[in-house]
Amino acid sequence: MSIALHGMGVSRGIAIGNVHVIQRDQPDVHEYFLKSNEVEDEVKRFETAITCAREQLRAIRKHIPHATDTDIAAFIDTHLLMLEDSALTHEPIRYIREYKCNAEWALKQQRDALVSVFDEMNDAYLRTRKDDVDYVVSRIQRFLSNRSPLLHEEPGSHSRLSGYIVLANDLTPADTVMMQHNGITGFLTEYGGPTSHTAILARSLGLPAIVGVQHALKYINEEDFVILDGTRGVLIIDPDRRTRTQYERLQRKEKRYYADLRKLKGKPAVTLDKVVIDLQANIELQDDFETVKEVGANGVGLYRTEFLYMNRDEPPDEEEHYDTYTKVIKALGGLPLTIRTLDLGADKQVDGGSRQTRPIAANPALGLRAIRLCLKEPGLFKPQVRAILRASVHGPVRVMIPMLSNVHEMTQVLQMVDAIKTELDEKNIDYDHHIQFGGMIEVPAAAVCAEIFARHMDFLSIGTNDLIQYTMAIDRVNDEVNYLYDPLHPAVLRLIHGTIRAGEKSHIPVAMCGEMAGECQYTRLLLGLGLREFSVHPAVLLEIKQIITQSDIGELSRLAKRALNAENGVEVADIMSLASPMTLSS
Ligand code: PEP
Ligand code: MG
Repeated sequence: MSIALHGMGVSRGIAIGNVHVIQRDQPDVHEYFLKSNEVEDEVKRFETAITCAREQLRAIRKHIPHATDTDIAAFIDTHLLMLEDSALTHEPIRYIREYKCNAEWALKQQRDALVSVFDEMNDAYLRTRKDDVDYVVSRIQRFLSNRSPLLHEEPGSHSRLSGYIVLANDLTPADTVMMQHNGITGFLTEYGGPTSHTAILARSLGLPAIVGVQHALKYINEEDFVILDGTRGVLIIDPDRRTRTQYERLQRKEKRYYADLRKLKGKPAVTLDKVVIDLQANIELQDDFETVKEVGANGVGLYRTEFLYMNRDEPPDEEEHYDTYTKVIKALGGLPLTIRTLDLGADKQVDGGSRQTRPIAANPALGLRAIRLCLKEPGLFKPQVRAILRASVHGPVRVMIPMLSNVHEMTQVLQMVDAIKTELDEKNIDYDHHIQFGGMIEVPAAAVCAEIFARHMDFLSIGTNDLIQYTMAIDRVNDEVNYLYDPLHPAVLRLIHGTIRAGEKSHIPVAMCGEMAGECQYTRLLLGLGLREFSVHPAVLLEIKQIITQSDIGELSRLAKRALNAENGVEVADIMSLASPMTLSS
């Protein structure tokens, strides 16, 4: 009888094959006492285990394929650094000497102490770092107990596990790298979340993966035949013939689909009726810019800068801003970069800096956020704008102001910019004298009056995440009202359409950088509403391009016109479903 287990699909794709089970719990460790003359030998045994663990990790690092994400090397480097850290190398030795106990026990005590510190942290990301401690500790423990490696750790040699799907309670990033060498086609873990290193690695290695399937080891045995669907987060044990055939067909279809998508990389996004669409990428962290080039985006339509301010006590100074932007601009090698100025407040609170002195507002989403905060605290905003201007000599840069609700806010920004330019001129500091300033349309007031805004700006970009939140009067982080979040609501469509029209009238470009632009089911509607610039997450860019190349603007404009008169989102979806079917690879 087949059984289906559900978890969190963290890396898409389908794997079909037999299971190899890996047990990676912290081993059961027992305490025993040593005679005084045995203590130094025990210390040596511990030091040897550390050395072996280090050598093993270095060997794995050497075998990371060049084409894989630099993140992978970084994860392993983190573990190598931990193997140099006195918390793991010296503390257990101190413990062995003080309590005259075995090395395994001393290491376990130190591991428990470190993990309890991580457990107390509020930050979800930092809490997952306790996994790193466990990974490193269990590697050392394996050497102490002379247990064999979990996967065949001689990269390049033939592995009996080729074609297998790995099941484990948890995996290390190094295991994930070794999986590739062993020809493993997918994996499932009992623990872990979408931000765990292992999940990130699975995505960059293109291994279908599901995490967080609690008690999976109870239901699955070595050599069981399974289907792992990383897209939907489902594992089917012992599938019947029909299910297997269906999945094999789906697997072939997905493979062809992604292979076809990759072919689109260097091609322009042009519709069937020859309308050229500008496809740009959204980035947050500095490292994301590599992926911008990988998918062949035309530039960055939204660079969120608030991440520079998070998890620290003091806001970044002008030099840090300047260095960061300069690096990104140079890495983009001439592709245009749209830097969105600080958008803190609401769900994006920071830990330190001057903002800590303010009480949290009752309705933070309606409070002192983004440009409102920046105008109130020029000390926070000015260094950023000055740094952007200075960095603009290194490549094409535009500045985008978030959360505008009236034109006066933009006028104030431009006055501040003029003053900064004068200061720079006086000091003979160069900047791009034609740098463009645009605004995000994400407050309904701005969307309704988009025509007025368009007259004062070089470009507009629609932030649908906030525009929908404010139009529907729902807090975007409140689960209880999530059901009202509807990008197809006629009110939302009319605001989007009105903004695009305002841009056309003033002859300025209008982009969309909210999540709606990156969701495939809305692409054709947005094309029909007149959107010609999309800024989306790099991971979905090629899929959006695929849809664009299969679309006819003439047809979509007619349908979108009808959709604008629909009474609700369901009717809008029905109307858009009348568009000619796409001839994607099938
Ligand atoms: C938006 O609101 O759509 C947007 C892109 O900005 P953020 O999600 O950062 O608020
Ligand atoms: Mg926003």
